[in-house]
Amino acid sequence: MSEIYCKGCGALIQTEDKTLPGYVSDKILEDFEPSNMICQRCYRIRHYNEVYPYTVSNSDYIKVIDKIKEEDALIVKIVDIFDFSGSFVPAIKTLTGNEDVILVGNKMDLLPKNVKPKKILNWLKLMLAAQGFTVLSSILVSAKYGDNFDELMELINKYKGKRNVYIVGCSNVGKSKIVNQILKRYLGEHSDVLTVSISPQTTIGLIGFQLMDGSIIYDTPGVINKHQYMHYLTRPSYKLTVPKKEIKPLIFQLYEGQTLFFGGLARLDIISGETGDKISLITYFANTLNIHRTKTRTADDLYRAKKYTLLSPPFTPDEDVPKWVYHEFTIRDNQKYDIVFSGLGFVTLRAPFCVRAYAPFVVGVYTRLAII
Ligand code: GDP
Repeated sequence: MSEIYCKGCGALIQTEDKTLPGYVSDKILEDFEPSNMICQRCYRIRHYNEVYPYTVSNSDYIKVIDKIKEEDALIVKIVDIFDFSGSFVPAIKTLTGNEDVILVGNKMDLLPKNVKPKKILNWLKLMLAAQGFTVLSSILVSAKYGDNFDELMELINKYKGKRNVYIVGCSNVGKSKIVNQILKRYLGEHSDVLTVSISPQTTIGLIGFQLMDGSIIYDTPGVINKHQYMHYLTRPSYKLTVPKKEIKPLIFQLYEGQTLFFGGLARLDIISGETGDKISLITYFANTLNIHRTKTRTADDLYRAKKYTLLSPPFTPDEDVPKWVYHEFTIRDNQKYDIVFSGLGFVTLRAPFCVRAYAPFVVGVYTRLAII
């Protein structure tokens, strides 16, 4: 058969292996228009909300993304504003062979409403400067609500000329949701065309759509950053952990020798604080995640006794996350910093401080100048 690609994920349509993306039965292959075909995996994700993990190997990802090197294109690089470092992919210019990049911070709906977008954009500039990464422009959007899409399209039209546009970035930053918004708002689609899912790597190949002026906008597969917490969570844990709506920050006044548990997923110990005793900190996590305060002296005992109950998720030994390690951060100036648990959330506090942050050894834990 001539090559047909799934409209939802870009995988090559095949009738051989049910376990792989792109599978359709012989009957579907006969009955459906090739241009409208979606594979069984996309069908089940959309209609039954099933989780279908599939890993695009690094070499397959590079093969797909390498095609972009063959042309002069505009790159629209998406980051998850809630987990900037975890979703940044600094090598994107080398991977795509293109220098012209618009940076899009997605999921702005998760940030508290009183935070000024300008402040976040200024912070993004600082982060980019620290990485030595230059962009044509930066913008914040919410693909969920369609916020700032007119401004995003204006930027794309301003910089693309006659070139094609590639939407790139780490898995789960919202690339497919962004392309769906563009298709619905500007190209007359009535429903979502691309399959969007909480599973990473739903998009398998390049999927292109013609814009009004003939150039093509492509959704691309995402590279997985193994340091994001989500990759180690089972579905019940994931549901409580990944924020779906505006985060309500919580303020804590802690003393030296006190500890916060974030469910049973991470922990922060205050070793010493600003004034030598009390320390104010603000937590930014999904509102559904229980944050529990205790004494550091008894924290290990509490963890052993209350894991899966008070300190959950995880809820059962089957859902255990990889072994924890701690990272100690000592900062002596007097600026505000975030301690970030990649993909889970962050805690803001003013230096000087010394804290220990515990999380699975595979999860990125780092400090940065405060975003808010
Ligand atoms: P992709 O892997 O980069 O293509 O990401 P998807 O478009 O498949 O989205 C990944 C997950 O993030 C899905 O659960 C989406 O519903 C969610 N998501 C995408 N954009 C937004 C957004 O603007 N706000 C929120 N809150 N969630 C979003």
